[in-house]
Amino acid sequence: MKLWDTHTHTTASADGIMKVEEAIARAEALGIGIGFTEHLDYEGDTEESYAVDPKALVEERKGLREKGVLIGIEAGLTLNTRGATKAALDVDLDFIVGSVHVVDGYDIFTTFWQQGEKEVLARKYLGYVLLMIERCPFFDSLGHIDYPSRYCPFPDKEMEYEDYKKEYDLIFEALLDNGKILELNTRRFMPDSGAGAKSLYCVLDAYKNMGGKLLTLGSDAHEAQRIGHCFDKAYEMANHVGLQFVRFVERKPVLFKNAR
Ligand SMILES: [Zn+2]
Ligand SMILES: [Zn+2]
Repeated sequence: MKLWDTHTHTTASADGIMKVEEAIARAEALGIGIGFTEHLDYEGDTEESYAVDPKALVEERKGLREKGVLIGIEAGLTLNTRGATKAALDVDLDFIVGSVHVVDGYDIFTTFWQQGEKEVLARKYLGYVLLMIERCPFFDSLGHIDYPSRYCPFPDKEMEYEDYKKEYDLIFEALLDNGKILELNTRRFMPDSGAGAKSLYCVLDAYKNMGGKLLTLGSDAHEAQRIGHCFDKAYEMANHVGLQFVRFVERKPVLFKNAR
């Protein structure tokens, strides 16, 4: 079965350092398919713009699409910017990852974790994710649910399912009610089975128990060497839990086993 990396960033994103050609060559060398999901964030603590122009991007990447590359966007979901984001996404894309990078104006990369205790903030994040699913129903798959753990300054960085069961269950319920699915993002997978992967396993298992069936798969690579990061482990995990991977083509899920 051919795996697909459908969460990647090229130099079109402010923090991407790989060129499109480089990324495609790397995916080909690995024998996997690739989709690009450049940033569309109108809110955040950065000086440079993290908002690409989806319309221009789709036009520019028409030729790539004809070659089987998927053209998507990773849209930052916030209450303040949802109108502008929705409007900008009204173009012919393959795939939209919906991600929470900012909670109530606090950028998770910079100031969010400085606002109080870990448990209070983790609950706040998960509650905000729920709100965004309900208020921003224009995405396909919820990106990196464990994103805050990347930047968590506390010794235990994980937001374990067991500790926030109610919050996670509400998120899964809202995803399924709204026809959305969850992404398995391998950014926090280590070559060995680290705490991040263990924590995600329990999250996926709970999603499955709530009725979840499908997942998208993404490395969140910003450089070519990270494409397909730990995909063998991700595949093993999804299989073990009993979930199937899909990629989105023209906003519709297609199982990995089917040819395009
Ligand atoms: Zn992201
Ligand atoms: Zn990303």
